[in-house]
Amino acid sequence: MKKAPYFITISKGIFECELKECNNKNITILKNNDENNKHILSYDIKKEEKTESIEDAKIIVVAGRGTKNKEAVNELEGFAELIGGKLGISRPVAMSAWASMDKLIGVSGIMAKPKLCITAGVSGSAAFYAGIEKSDFIIAINSDEHSAILKKSDVAIIDDYKAIIDELVNYIK
Ligand SMILES: Cc1cc2nc3c(=O)[nH]c(=O)nc-3n(C[C@H](O)[C@H](O)[C@H](O)COP(=O)(O)OP(=O)(O)OC[C@H]3O[C@@H](n4cnc5c(N)ncnc54)[C@H](O)[C@@H]3O)c2cc1C
Repeated sequence: MKKAPYFITISKGIFECELKECNNKNITILKNNDENNKHILSYDIKKEEKTESIEDAKIIVVAGRGTKNKEAVNELEGFAELIGGKLGISRPVAMSAWASMDKLIGVSGIMAKPKLCITAGVSGSAAFYAGIEKSDFIIAINSDEHSAILKKSDVAIIDDYKAIIDELVNYIK
């Protein structure tokens, strides 16, 4: 392979995993034991940098379709980080590629169990809500007083989410 980009596929079962200890850390060594696949000549072992996952986060801030665009979702991620949390997203946000799919909350994605969950511009469909119902405390911000999420939250704020988040950012800073 002399020219990028490369496209690599790996058959299931091609590697055998072996757990070893190195500098007091466990590392996984992948061994190619498949006689039919000896074209894999070398491989690197890279230690995975573990950051706190959304599943384990104590605080999550979820962006729904009501955030309206990618820039707004990025801003909300900034707010999540400011309060020591992680960004989660609803399906329309994932489908619009305003944030990556691995942040999707709900039956098709992550079942989160944070201490605090703040939703912004999320309507609260059953498929979404299943992903946050194990939260200790839910604050929902939605401009529509009839949206389902407001009835399923501990604190319901009926307003433009952006006005509330901006106010919170000012307050925290
Ligand atoms: C089989 C299946 C699996 C699914 N799995 C998932 C899943 O895992 N996760 C998931 O999220 N969805 C899933 N869905 C989709 C789900 O049914 C909903 O369509 C989706 O959750 C709606 O996302 P939303 O709340 O962001 O958008 P919407 O339902 O469009 O809600 C947007 C909300 O934003 C509010 N809003 C608008 N502007 C503002 C503003 N300025 N300030 C405050 N609020 C505002 C509106 O009042 C509205 O309530 C699934 C559906 C199916 C059929």
